[in-house]
Amino acid sequence: MIDLRSDTATRPTPEMRRAMAGAEVGDDVFGEDPTVRRLEEETAALLGKEAALYVPSGHMSNQIAVYVSAGSGEELWAHERSHVVANEQGGTSVLARVLPRTFDAAEGHPSQELLERWAAGADDVHRARPALISLENTLTGLVVPLAEQRRVADFAHAHGMRLHLDGARLWNAAVALGVAPAEVAEGADTVSVCFSKGLGAPVGSALAGDTDTIRRARRARKLLGGGMRQAGIIAAGALHALHHHVDRLAEDHGRAARLAEAIATVPGLGAQARTNMVILEAPEGRAPELAAAVTGHGVGCVPLGPSHIRFVAHLDITDTDIDEAAKLIAAAAATLTGKNP
Ligand SMILES: *Cc1c(COP(=O)(O)O)cnc(C)c1O
Repeated sequence: MIDLRSDTATRPTPEMRRAMAGAEVGDDVFGEDPTVRRLEEETAALLGKEAALYVPSGHMSNQIAVYVSAGSGEELWAHERSHVVANEQGGTSVLARVLPRTFDAAEGHPSQELLERWAAGADDVHRARPALISLENTLTGLVVPLAEQRRVADFAHAHGMRLHLDGARLWNAAVALGVAPAEVAEGADTVSVCFSKGLGAPVGSALAGDTDTIRRARRARKLLGGGMRQAGIIAAGALHALHHHVDRLAEDHGRAARLAEAIATVPGLGAQARTNMVILEAPEGRAPELAAAVTGHGVGCVPLGPSHIRFVAHLDITDTDIDEAAKLIAAAAATLTGKNP
């Protein structure tokens, strides 16, 4: 199986396992794990923030970010396909009792017109108070332009709101744009990054922000049961990934482009590469059927709605895998032609 379902499929490399096995540890709930502290300090510095908090998952990181920036009955504005509203069991409404208000935008960011319309009359007694905007970069591989992100940050701050950036794949955006991670995080009050996606670490994310926000985030992590003890064992994997697996994301982007190019030559199929992802365009309504055939041919993929399929390049995927996957996808597509939908 060539597993292109997600960049979460990576396994720790032998070097990463050695770093983990040799990690210096302590009780992190007491703030005594030196490896976790080092990971938090280095992550904060890379993102240009005062502090960071190591958490078990990106999901928890987003939920904590909402919890510390918006209160009961307040509004969170986010893209309708963003992870924080679409893929976290409605957690913002359960945990922070925050009301999500979602926009759709192919480019991943809300227009100025929409922001102004939504902010108008915010002090009306009938309205929930708008408290937080969340952006995702990358959004399913799509890089949100930094100028647009800054525009949204400026808007949020001018209206007494905060900006959260779900940067699970912020590293991919930074590499694709050729800028430092801190530049992508600029303007965000909180930023969440994952170590367990393209970076290839087995566990964990971090939430970064100012010292007071992260102090409150540390309390919220404990509230959610996310306090960990000798977490240096897993944090060492994340540190190793930060040191050795960021720049190499360019290889994944190159492989995604190579796969998209090959798929686009298959009759009836279209494909677009976005950082480390390929979005295949299937004949109308036939993505689930094609995805099943592709999986049957030994290539892991994920259908996105009726007409699209996602493939993700990652640390464990080689050029040979990409070429083999392209052949198998073409073979799977051939089994569909002639069959009526
Ligand atoms: C994967 C992902 C998350 C959640 O991370 P987990 O560690 O899987 O909980 C959050 N946001 C985005 C954009 C993601 O891709």
